[in-house]
Amino acid sequence: MSSNPLAPGAALVASVKQSAARPRLYDTAAIQQLDSAHYLHPFTNFQDLNAKGARVMVRGEGIYLWDSQGSKILDGMSGLWCVNVGYGRTRISEAVYRQMETLPFYNSFFNTTNVPAVQLAAKLVEIAPLYFNHVFFTGSGSEANDTNVRMVRRYWDLLGQPQRHTIISRHNAYHGSTVAGASLGGMDGMHAQGGLPIPGIVHIGQPNYFESGKGMSEDAFGLLAASWLEEKILELGPEQVAAFIGEPVQGAGGVLIPPASYWPEIQRICDKYGVLLIADEVICGFGRLGKWFASELFGIKPDLITFAKGVTSGYVPLGGVLVGDRVADVLIDKGGEFNHGFTYSGHPVACAAALENIRIIEEEELVRKVAEDTGPYLKKRFAELGGHPLVGHADSCGFVAGLNLVRRKGATMHDCQLFEPEQGVGMICRGYLFDKGMIMRAVGDRMIVAPPLVMTRAQIDEMIALIRACLDATHADLRERGWVA
Ligand SMILES: *Cc1c(COP(=O)(O)O)cnc(C)c1O
Repeated sequence: MSSNPLAPGAALVASVKQSAARPRLYDTAAIQQLDSAHYLHPFTNFQDLNAKGARVMVRGEGIYLWDSQGSKILDGMSGLWCVNVGYGRTRISEAVYRQMETLPFYNSFFNTTNVPAVQLAAKLVEIAPLYFNHVFFTGSGSEANDTNVRMVRRYWDLLGQPQRHTIISRHNAYHGSTVAGASLGGMDGMHAQGGLPIPGIVHIGQPNYFESGKGMSEDAFGLLAASWLEEKILELGPEQVAAFIGEPVQGAGGVLIPPASYWPEIQRICDKYGVLLIADEVICGFGRLGKWFASELFGIKPDLITFAKGVTSGYVPLGGVLVGDRVADVLIDKGGEFNHGFTYSGHPVACAAALENIRIIEEEELVRKVAEDTGPYLKKRFAELGGHPLVGHADSCGFVAGLNLVRRKGATMHDCQLFEPEQGVGMICRGYLFDKGMIMRAVGDRMIVAPPLVMTRAQIDEMIALIRACLDATHADLRERGWVA
């Protein structure tokens, strides 16, 4: 590796002789200055970032990251919900290198294919529920959901029901950031920019028991939240509705774990009206909830499954759609060209990375561990945080977990007094986490984690201790401000 892997001509890495004992030194201020000058970051207030300067991540190993100042950080978010097998897996880099040397790229248009894409399609079909026999590859989760929009509408066209056009999604859902992905998503902030959602996409409420379930049992609330789908289908007319899309557990919306009654009832309603069911498993897939696909956990049989993130553990971008027989049979048998695809659909290097990543998940039995060992242990340890004076509710599912910061606890989670959104308590807490070397994400006042699946019990203990220390620091800070008793 050259001594300066960054911008040519800019001396961003101090020219000292590098060795294991003397790690690479970075000129953080110079990197931050170039960053501010030229790099427009995703989902970022540019002026705020430029005022503060970005944290420069330079290395990863296992569940830890190091920044350019030499600080070690426990990555409780797996990068962005994706580094399931942890950082620094030489096997994946070697598989990528070998594939790049052999065939770095060829497209799958015009009656051509490549070996890793074929192998990966077969592998995905093997680990997916039985009635999935086909895969469509994309470069990301957003593109996969764009593919879903085009695919379900094509499906109904081919069946002679072109008026079945509308897709129902949920408020606060996250389905990506392309025009269709952001339209399917239910994020108000995204809809407010660029005239979204596009026509033919509508939203219903989310099954958020903490926020909306007061006075009801969890199961009763789950049935109520599912009934909003039936209401919407009847309002639109079932003959207009193409599909319903949802994340089994909503991720970016704040790790919202639905009541057990919710998904089976959604399935019943979709079946009753013949509406296609799309499970967006970009976060939930590849072992994160203790199954290869979370649809199995919640007992649903989606017609399409969106995947990305964990399929390559983020080492190389890749996404796609698992296409169940109901849709695939129509697309294939009714003939005609599906006028859709990407230059990088079935990219051989990305597929090689995915194959090696899946091999690691299998060999290290990460799916079973999350289901039977480390997942239940995380559940137990994370639930203990619910006893903290600042925490109104703490829950988890597999390797995603979240806790709600509250001003005063109540007899039940629904009797807690909340902070005002403008107080930005989640962000205050996140500041302490960052300082103490722990990455957790704040969604409003809900603090969430989604750690790498390789995290051990001892590392779970370490993470819980870090979170507790940050909750204590946040509590002391808020007391000083007079915001809590
Ligand atoms: C991240 C995410 C996406 C979008 O994936 P990109 O690769 O960022 O385009 C879609 N759906 C869900 C549930 C996600 O978490």
